[in-house]
Amino acid sequence: MSTPFLPFALPEIGDDEIAEVVDTLKSGWVTTGPKAKRFEADFAAFLGDPALHCIAVNSATAGLHLALEGLGLGPGDEVITTTHTFTATAEVVRYLGADVKLVDIDPSTLNIDPAAVAAAITPRTRALMPVHYGGLAADMAAIHDIARAHDLHVVEDAAHALPTTHGGRLVGTLDSAATVFSFYANKTITTGEGGMLVTRDAALAQRARTMRLHGMSRDAFDRFTATVPSWYYEVVAPGFKYNLTDIAAAIGLHQLKKAHAFQQKRAAIAARYTEALAGLPVVTAPLPPAGERHAWHLYPLRLTDGVALGRDAFIERLYALGIGCSVHYIPLHLQPYWRDRYQLKAADFPHSQHAYERMLSLPIYTRMTDADVERVVEAVRTVLAAA
Ligand SMILES: *Cc1c(COP(=O)(O)O)cnc(C)c1O
Repeated sequence: MSTPFLPFALPEIGDDEIAEVVDTLKSGWVTTGPKAKRFEADFAAFLGDPALHCIAVNSATAGLHLALEGLGLGPGDEVITTTHTFTATAEVVRYLGADVKLVDIDPSTLNIDPAAVAAAITPRTRALMPVHYGGLAADMAAIHDIARAHDLHVVEDAAHALPTTHGGRLVGTLDSAATVFSFYANKTITTGEGGMLVTRDAALAQRARTMRLHGMSRDAFDRFTATVPSWYYEVVAPGFKYNLTDIAAAIGLHQLKKAHAFQQKRAAIAARYTEALAGLPVVTAPLPPAGERHAWHLYPLRLTDGVALGRDAFIERLYALGIGCSVHYIPLHLQPYWRDRYQLKAADFPHSQHAYERMLSLPIYTRMTDADVERVVEAVRTVLAAA
C-alpha cells in the first residue's frame, strides 16, 4: 500500500508554540510562573466572563479532584455521573472516599440522561458530574433544574468541550459550581498534559489554588503585618502537586488563540462525514441543536443492527486500509473495578451498552487534509459494502 497509515489523532503544534517554549526554557523560569498566570488570564478572557476564576492544573483529572475536594465531598457522599465516559471522571470521587452512582445515556446524544439522573438521586447524593461527550453539550438546563430541586453541586467534565456552547453560552460560563477542561495530547487544544478548573465561587477557587500546591498558603500571614516576606508560607492542609508548568502553559497560550479556528476545521470534517455517510447502515454522530457549537473532539459512528460484521472486525478492516480508529468508551460498568465495586450489570445500562457494542470513533483532527478525510469516507464505504 502506497498511502501512509492515518493515525487516529495527532496534535497540531506550530512555530509559535515552539518559540514560546524555547523562550520559557531560556527565561530561567520553567515551572509555574508568569506564563501559567497569563494562560489563566487568557483563558478567562477566552470564556469572556470577568467573574470567572481560572486555575491551571497539570491535568483535568487533577482539576476534577480539586473541584470535588473544594466542595467538601467525602465518605458517605454520592456523586452521579455517566457510565459512558473515561474512568478519570469517576475515579476522583473515589480519591475522596465518596461513592459513584453511574447512570445510562440518552442514545440520541450519547450524553448522560437527565431522567436517569433524577431516578438515581438518594439522600446521600451531593453532586452531579455531566460529561459533554465528544464535545456535544449535555442537557445542562435539565441537569441544573435537577440540581436546584435537590440542592446538589454540578461539576462539569468539559474535557472534550472547548469550545462548546449550551443555550448560546460557552461551556465554562454556565451555572455550575465548577467546570474542568483537559489539555491532554489528543484533546481539542493541548499542552501535552494539562487542565483548567473554572469556577465563579471565590472560596472554591482559593481552596483549589492552595490544594494545587501542597496546601501552602501565604494568606494567613498578614493579619498583623502589612507585607509577607517572600520566603514565608503556611501549610494549611495536606495538599497535592497539581500545578501546571510554564513550559506547558507556553504551549497553551498559543493553542488557545487557535481554539476557534481548530473547532471550525473539526466541524468541517464532521460535516463531511455526516454528509458522505448518510444513507449507509450507520448512525452518524449526534448533531448539536441549531445555533449551538459542538467542539467535535470525537466523531462517534455506530453500525446499525443490520450490519452483520461486528464492530471489532470493522475496526480491523479499517486498520488494514490504513485508517486508525478508536472506541469511546468501554463503559465504566464493564470495567472490573467499577463493575465489581458496585455490582453493575450491562442490562442496567442498555443504551450505553448498545452504543458501545456498535460504535467506533473516526479520526477528526486539524492536521487531516481533505484527502485524508476522503480516504476515511472511502474506507468506511468499502468496509460497509463488504459487511
Ligand atoms: C481526557 C479526559 C479526562 C482526563 O483528562 P486528563 O487531562 O488526561 O486528566 C477526563 N474526562 C474525560 C471525559 C476525558 O476524555
